Amino acid sequence: MSILVFPKEALETEKRIALLPVNVKTYCRLGAKVLVESGLGLTLGVADEEYVEAGAEIFTDREPALAQADAVLSVRSIAFEDFDLCPKHSLSVSFFDPFNRTEHLKQVLNSQRSAISMEMIPRTSRCQKMDALSSQASLAGYVMVLKAMNQLNKTLPMMMTPAGTLKPAKIFVIGAGVAGLQAIATAKRMGASVLAYDTRAEVAEQVQSLGAKFLKIDLGETKSSDQGYASALTEEQMSLQQKAQEECIADSDIVITTAQLFGRKPPLLITNDVLKKMRPGSVVVDMAAEDGGNVEASVAGETIDFNGIKIVGTGNWASEVSLDASQMYANNLQALISDMWDEERKALHIDDSDEVLRSALITHKGELVNAIIKATHEKETA
Ligand code: NAD
Repeated sequence: MSILVFPKEALETEKRIALLPVNVKTYCRLGAKVLVESGLGLTLGVADEEYVEAGAEIFTDREPALAQADAVLSVRSIAFEDFDLCPKHSLSVSFFDPFNRTEHLKQVLNSQRSAISMEMIPRTSRCQKMDALSSQASLAGYVMVLKAMNQLNKTLPMMMTPAGTLKPAKIFVIGAGVAGLQAIATAKRMGASVLAYDTRAEVAEQVQSLGAKFLKIDLGETKSSDQGYASALTEEQMSLQQKAQEECIADSDIVITTAQLFGRKPPLLITNDVLKKMRPGSVVVDMAAEDGGNVEASVAGETIDFNGIKIVGTGNWASEVSLDASQMYANNLQALISDMWDEERKALHIDDSDEVLRSALITHKGELVNAIIKATHEKETA
């Protein structure tokens, strides 16, 4: 029997959790023992008793609980001091942030313990149920529209009233991946007039099917990886894109940027010179603010005023709708654990030759086993 431990989140501002009572039932059916830290669900109004009713045990003292863990499951990676309390064979499953948290990665590696990074789950049909990056990005797209709407001093839909006609707000979404498409769909539902752009030309059809317009920019050849991730543009292409977008940005009430480059710093899309062309009262939401930013002026974790324009860079977007985000994330984890489960032994089995773990397992038995992270790590330490 494997013991699955769910500690409270290490980061105080993290409102999402990795387990709801309904998931406990599934884990128990698999044959796992589920240990839950007292108060785990409190931020979502889930009492300890509900986990107990579903079959879990509650602990208040972390040390003895972690000492029995075969796996520790959380939203953010647990603090290394906690990981160090776990047995050597134990596995941590979380958003590990392996490209940025290199010190943490080294500690986990040296400690011989294993870690799965939910960011690295492959984007394949088999893995859709485990794809936490998508589930959280989709909610982020929705939240970014709400954040922008709350900062804007006008309405999103058109309103025809005896007191006059209000024009619909103009929203420009740059980057139409999972988050961008959800932002477009949300903004359309709110009645805004929406324009979008992405360097992957194949996205145009998806944007149009949501009722939005797609901005065409001829950048020449753009590449994407076999997982569908966009490759970085050349400097010449970047400046072509920035020029072509300028007018649309200046004409928008809201600009939402969601452009990412997998494993790299996000591209800079909007410089301060372009921001200065926007009307005072306009709003820019930078999804990438915490990772370096798509917008030059954005500040990680904050909403600032730049020449009368509100720039939202608060980040941790999905956490704003923490109940739904937790439900989706906990289900993603459950799908992964069920996939790894050995029915005969009623235990977790780390098969590092499996397609999912080849991609998502970062460290195992003291080795850095992930090819992409290994290459990045070696480049950094060279
Ligand atoms: P992402 O978060 O890596 O990037 C967001 C978007 O930014 C992408 O659409 C990308 O093309 C775009 N972008 C990058 N540079 C840009 C620039 N300079 N200007 C404008 N846009 C720029 O992407 P994502 O949302 O994680 O999606 C990545 C890929 O994975 C997509 O092809 C998506 O369809 C695919 N996907 C597949 C599955 C599945 O099959 N299970 C699930 C989810 C996503």
